[in-house]
Amino acid sequence: MFSGAHTLCVVPARFDVSRAELEAWLGRLGQPRYRVEQVWSGLHRRLLDPEQMTDLPVTLRGELAARLPPGLAVEKESVSEGGDTVKWLWRLGDGAAVETVLMHYPGRSTVCISTQAGCAMACGFCATGQAGFTRNLTSGEIVEQVVVAGRRAAASNRRVGNVVFMGMGEPMANYDNTWGAVERLHDDVGLSSRHLTVSTVGIVPGIRRLAGERLPVNLAVSLHAADDELRDRLVPINRRYPIDALLDACRAYLAAKGRRLSFEWALIDAVNDRPADADRLARLVRPLAAHVNLIPLNPTPGWPTRGTPPSGVRDFRDRLKAAGVNVTVRRNRGNDIDAACGQLAGSAAVAVPISGRGR
Ligand code: SAH
Repeated sequence: MFSGAHTLCVVPARFDVSRAELEAWLGRLGQPRYRVEQVWSGLHRRLLDPEQMTDLPVTLRGELAARLPPGLAVEKESVSEGGDTVKWLWRLGDGAAVETVLMHYPGRSTVCISTQAGCAMACGFCATGQAGFTRNLTSGEIVEQVVVAGRRAAASNRRVGNVVFMGMGEPMANYDNTWGAVERLHDDVGLSSRHLTVSTVGIVPGIRRLAGERLPVNLAVSLHAADDELRDRLVPINRRYPIDALLDACRAYLAAKGRRLSFEWALIDAVNDRPADADRLARLVRPLAAHVNLIPLNPTPGWPTRGTPPSGVRDFRDRLKAAGVNVTVRRNRGNDIDAACGQLAGSAAVAVPISGRGR
């Protein structure tokens, strides 16, 4: 067989190996059946590296480490001033780069994970969109971000309670691998589907498919504009899936899952923060009893606008509230380490000088 180099290339990353494959491999090594559960829960529940599985024979630990190489190598780790936000830049097996952000809150921690290296959705205000698309992540690469963050949280006596699919990439443009990761996080890592939130730019067929899945995850939709003319400009995929079609799909999701929807709205100064924008938004979301999450736009190198100033954010929020909308302002986390919403840019974050930012 000429399989040497080829086989090396296709050794799947640690969390891309299925339980059945692990079982078959341990069987071939002549290991007793109970080892399967030991290794599986060691990886997913106890968040261990094979070398740390001290309930296994030493030789098996070594064999496992070789058979299940990690999919993520840390390229850079940044910790925010207060220490409550950690961002990792990972280098994947083929050199692609993605980022993961761990945020500690009192009593719980949230990890924000990437589903793609880069993104093809081209939203102009988003650093990932500005950098373009590299490739889809595998399910295992998505899951491993949660495991590594969970391990870090545990080191400071915390637990990752929430996972948000709001890092780099568009989850619905990598549907199968994203859903595979959701199932693994639920079934094997043991996270409740109530604590998993998939965020989409508004890919209608993806939302409809999600409505038919067995697990009722939270759905967040990045709306940013309540009329097609403005949304076409901010979120180019709106030309394919305009607001009416998007809201129809949201209604279907709500009907199927009964989970409260949330809409994200990056507040951009003098672009989508006018009273008329709030009124239009209220009219759209009220019938869905949806939650609105306001995020003052974070600065990115390639977008010459700025976030709504704090007084404008308060006015916008109050206007929504007065119209009966459930609304919160997202606290800005990790701005000093470029870990805030929309600032994840993978390797570009290292290459682009922050001082070159446009006005
Ligand atoms: N592609 C998915 C998930 C990734 S982005 C989506 O679009 O939902 C996560 C959130 O951050 C989205 O709501 C996105 O619109 C928002 N965002 C992107 N760039 C931003 C920026 N510069 N400032 C604030 N929020 C931003």
